[in-house]
Amino acid sequence: MSHKDHEFETGAIRGQMDKTGFREHSTPMFLTSSFTFPSAEVMRDTFSGDAEGIIYSRYNNPNTDELIAKMCAMEGAEAGFATASGMAAVFASMMAFLKSGDHVIASRAVFGSTHQILTQLLPRWGITHSYVEPTQPETWSEAVQSNTKMFVLETPSNPGLTLVDLQAAGDFARVHDLILNVDNCFATPYLQQPLQYGAHLAVHSTTKWTDGQGRVLGGMVLGSQELIDEVIFFCRHTGPALSPFNAWLMSKSLETLGVRMDRHCANALQMAEELQQHPEIIQVSYPFLPSHPQYKLAKRQMKMGGGIVTIEVEGGVERAMRFLNAVQVCSLSSNLGDTRTIVTHPASTTHSKLKAEERLAVGIRPGLIRISVGLENIKDILADVNQALEKSR
Ligand SMILES: *Cc1c(COP(=O)(O)O)cnc(C)c1O
Repeated sequence: MSHKDHEFETGAIRGQMDKTGFREHSTPMFLTSSFTFPSAEVMRDTFSGDAEGIIYSRYNNPNTDELIAKMCAMEGAEAGFATASGMAAVFASMMAFLKSGDHVIASRAVFGSTHQILTQLLPRWGITHSYVEPTQPETWSEAVQSNTKMFVLETPSNPGLTLVDLQAAGDFARVHDLILNVDNCFATPYLQQPLQYGAHLAVHSTTKWTDGQGRVLGGMVLGSQELIDEVIFFCRHTGPALSPFNAWLMSKSLETLGVRMDRHCANALQMAEELQQHPEIIQVSYPFLPSHPQYKLAKRQMKMGGGIVTIEVEGGVERAMRFLNAVQVCSLSSNLGDTRTIVTHPASTTHSKLKAEERLAVGIRPGLIRISVGLENIKDILADVNQALEKSR
């Protein structure tokens, strides 16, 4: 099932497991928790690793194998492991490598639950962290300690859309001998491939653009065979495996990742350009808008700007909440990366537990609204956003 020689879209569509005896065209679903063996000897050899075979769906399953193989081809990775959610992937990508006494450097702009792992959970096992400024690579080395093991980052970040220079991060990790662990959820491998810049691990919430239709949860860790073997060991014995049903669904979704991202990005860019003219919007943020402070970097490391736009409305929290109440087409939901446009207000929801200063430090101002731009006709979405801005005055 190797599609390494094919273009991205071809591998995404033609990458498929071997057909069963029925010669089906579309991959079937393997809803089975375990697999059988023709003899005690084959069973022994499969368990010892001397024979190839699938044992148990906590380890792997034909559907998860297919999904992983496709994601590996897209990210340029040797191996991967599929988990039940994005956070299971983030956690496994850390715990497979860290031990008591280790130190982690992390970009300050990371996903809320990643922040909770770093600040609340890892200290229970004696693992410490330092945050660094994602936009100031020249300051990162100040955070390095003799026990620093890993550098964790996310680009573009959720929800601030702050970028981290992947080339600088790759060079930094090499010089200081750190495992570079990049959450590539917002960009997807279609727009950006962190391993090309020297990242050791690429992590995904496949719940988002990979599924792309707001149906199921999933996650993935990708990297070299050597590193992923550690992730597999950790996950096999702790059990965050992805269900075969979710893997089947996501593998089908990957067939359309390229065309979906083309349209998400085109819609998002059009929305960002038009809303930039709106007198009651203080700021529109989108990586491919020339007004984004890291526009040049975005152009260098991303194929397109992604599907997320943030706007900051005049009138702070109250206006932002009135805006959410006024939309008629867009959905109020915490998810993103769906065919349906979703609006969220981070300050009153996903980031409400942070202190006001902590929110500001990662660019979450009171009137900030995150828009996950969907695949509806952009005219309808813009009309909805404009009428909601008007009504929420
Ligand atoms: C959503 C998200 C996650 C967590 O993924 P789940 O599938 O919800 O567990 C991690 N990182 C980023 C950047 C995300 O947007």
